[in-house]
Amino acid sequence: MAFDSLSERLQGTLKKVSGQGRLTEKNMEEMLTEIRLALLEADVNFQVVKEFIASTKEKALGQDVLGSLKPGQVVVKIVHDELVELLGTSVATIDYDKKPTVIMMVGLQGSGKTTTAGKIANLISKKHAKKPLLVAADIYRPAAVDQLKTLGEQLNVPVYEKGTSQSAESIVEEAMRFARENNNDVIIIDTAGRLHIDEPLMKELSNIKQIAHPHEILLVVDALTGQDIVNVASSFNEQLSITGAVLTKLDGDSRGGGALSIRHITHVPIKFIGTGEKLDAIDLFYPDRMADRILGMGDVVSLVEKVQDVYDEKDTMKTYKRMQSGQFGLDDMLSQMQQLRKLGPLSGILKMIPGMPKIPKLNDEDSDRKLKETESIIFSMTKEERRDPSIINLARKERIAKGCGKDIAAINRLLKQFEESKKMMKMLGNFDPEIGMPTQKP
Ligand code: GDP
Repeated sequence: MAFDSLSERLQGTLKKVSGQGRLTEKNMEEMLTEIRLALLEADVNFQVVKEFIASTKEKALGQDVLGSLKPGQVVVKIVHDELVELLGTSVATIDYDKKPTVIMMVGLQGSGKTTTAGKIANLISKKHAKKPLLVAADIYRPAAVDQLKTLGEQLNVPVYEKGTSQSAESIVEEAMRFARENNNDVIIIDTAGRLHIDEPLMKELSNIKQIAHPHEILLVVDALTGQDIVNVASSFNEQLSITGAVLTKLDGDSRGGGALSIRHITHVPIKFIGTGEKLDAIDLFYPDRMADRILGMGDVVSLVEKVQDVYDEKDTMKTYKRMQSGQFGLDDMLSQMQQLRKLGPLSGILKMIPGMPKIPKLNDEDSDRKLKETESIIFSMTKEERRDPSIINLARKERIAKGCGKDIAAINRLLKQFEESKKMMKMLGNFDPEIGMPTQKP
């Protein structure tokens, strides 16, 4: 998916901050530098990055993060809110109630205009019970007209087309009349695109705008657009005053920078996103969900939900309480392992936790074997040893090894794992689902 590498870098940076007891001016500067680099690397426009960092810094200083007890959480929240702000604070929809509602699609060639025109026609005929008309006004590419015709046939939506011999302006004029006569209540005009912005194209688009008086002029840009987004978006906006943007190809593994810049450049909302080639691969754009996804918070929400479903709450609370009072012992670790096992593939679970170290070799068979081994070792220990593993000296290790038929190395591994587990439980114990990050209290 788009944003993967940005996501990884931002999460890494924020995790580092979360782990710090106190945030100093120095490590906040370091963090901001890293966020800056992560955004630039994702091809977010440099001007946008500059303002993003300045604003994040100002808010962080304003909220007195320095020296606060949970600086990580505060900073994560600030970055999250800044991202939402950058992407647009609310969901922008289209009002289809005008009769007819006219939507004009514009954008560079290959951005996904024609496909998106089809997707919107599909969406409104299914979800809004409207009677759309698609208009083929890209007269420079015969293939574009054919493509729209094919889409119309697939969707059972009429397409107004006159091939490529008539001017785009006259086609649109006739299509408007046709729509009135045929009671089409939404008119979607697919216009020509070029590889680069050029004057004649802009002139033609302005003419079409004058004729059709569109309620919406949607600029289609694909997520692969990098720094060029500034040029493209500002030219279209200056000439046509666009009303919204559509981001396509978010399913690809682009760096996604354009997506983060477009609203800032044009001041118009992103209205739809395209998430695939199929005609139903279109969604409204939810800025907060996108920010959640970039910061890896969405997964945490589902992890918390999953854990709530499967975990024995009483038992977990008991363990947490014991942990907090410093009583976490081997029996607790075993019980946690057994419960975690119930959640399903461990590798998948760990991956959901932002900033968790990747454990490439972990697979289910391994986890099962490990759980059995752990059980057999712990069952060979005395109650006292389970409660306080620090008393397990060499003589005790030899006795336990004999009891469970394992070697001393296995006992050592388990004790080491116990120490790790203690640390991890502490992290999970401090897990704040609202912030979505494991944070360590000082
Ligand atoms: P136009 O020149 O702007 O009309 O672009 P098209 O609609 O012809 O799209 C160009 C290519 O991008 C086509 O192969 C589409 O199938 C593809 N495409 C459009 N939107 C998406 C999307 O959201 N995801 C993916 N993966 N491909 C898309």
